[in-house]
Amino acid sequence: NMNEAAGVPVSVYNEDVRLDIQRDYEIERLLRRDVLRGRLEMHYQPKFSLTSMTLVGMEALIRWNCKELGPVSPAVFIPAAERCGLIVPLSQFVIQEVLDQMVDWRNQGRPSVPVSINISGSHLNTGEFTRELHDAIAEREIDQSLVELEVTEAVMVDAGSRAVFNLEALRATGVRVSVDDFGTGYSSLSYLKNLPVDCLKIDRSFVQNITHDNTALAIAKAIITVGHEVGLHVIAEGVETPEQLDCLKLLGCDSVQGFLTGRPVDKAAFDQFYEGPASKSVAA
Ligand code: C2E
Ligand code: MG
Ligand code: MG
Ligand code: MG
Repeated sequence: NMNEAAGVPVSVYNEDVRLDIQRDYEIERLLRRDVLRGRLEMHYQPKFSLTSMTLVGMEALIRWNCKELGPVSPAVFIPAAERCGLIVPLSQFVIQEVLDQMVDWRNQGRPSVPVSINISGSHLNTGEFTRELHDAIAEREIDQSLVELEVTEAVMVDAGSRAVFNLEALRATGVRVSVDDFGTGYSSLSYLKNLPVDCLKIDRSFVQNITHDNTALAIAKAIITVGHEVGLHVIAEGVETPEQLDCLKLLGCDSVQGFLTGRPVDKAAFDQFYEGPASKSVAA
């Protein structure tokens, strides 16, 4: 070891690990405080039909602007929540917030489009998940078909039968199910046929490369063909350029979501930009 030879006693590796643990602990402590106080908020990103270019849905994405840490990415704090046993309360907060927002939109007389909620595997795998969600929807007299769950392909593949069983039960009540980040989780066509799902979301990694990488193009094309063959709706996530959008349109993809057609925004901005289906055309 070069450091020892040079007489440096503390290895850089150990110092890094110590700082990582300290940082993780701090994130978990502050996250626990803010989840328990309901200090996170939901943003909404529009989804547009590629045939009509009208608003056909939206995805709810959680945001955490921590007083001490500033904005923290869900890619950082969702895994932290999983590690420290906060994922169920966090997920319950998300569900309440989104369903309450849907009631507000209904009360404002806005035309309704389905809203999707990301569900992590560990919440989906709990025994109470189905009943809790069903009751939360029924309590507010929300049309079940306006609620969509996004579950990543990795969770669908790894999940015990409980997760699939829970999705089947919810789907029987009319809730829709979407496979998020599709193409990254190694499912096969025959496997897809048995999953209780309505929609495939092509992962951003393929969309990003679709115009300059033949493999990404081939995979996107295959997902669209296979999805349609088994009767599923196919949406592409992470669409950033008009070229990507045109390409997906040519391939027959049903809808798109991405920075090109609309970034995730808070509810006030969403209300300002989007009135509902057919109100705002991306082509305009
Ligand atoms: P996801 O469900 O695949 O969400 C899409 C992510 O891509 C979001 O990141 C969104 O802001 C981002 N995105 C959308 N359009 C574009 C684009 O055109 N270009 C690029 N570069 N990015 C785009 P975000 O909000 O940081 O969320 C990351 C992940 O965290 C989500 O991936 C989801 O897995 C998870 N997540 C977010 N909100 C929730 C939540 O409420 N509950 C749970 N359990 N997970 C959540
Ligand atoms: Mg998602
Ligand atoms: Mg996704
Ligand atoms: Mg993704």
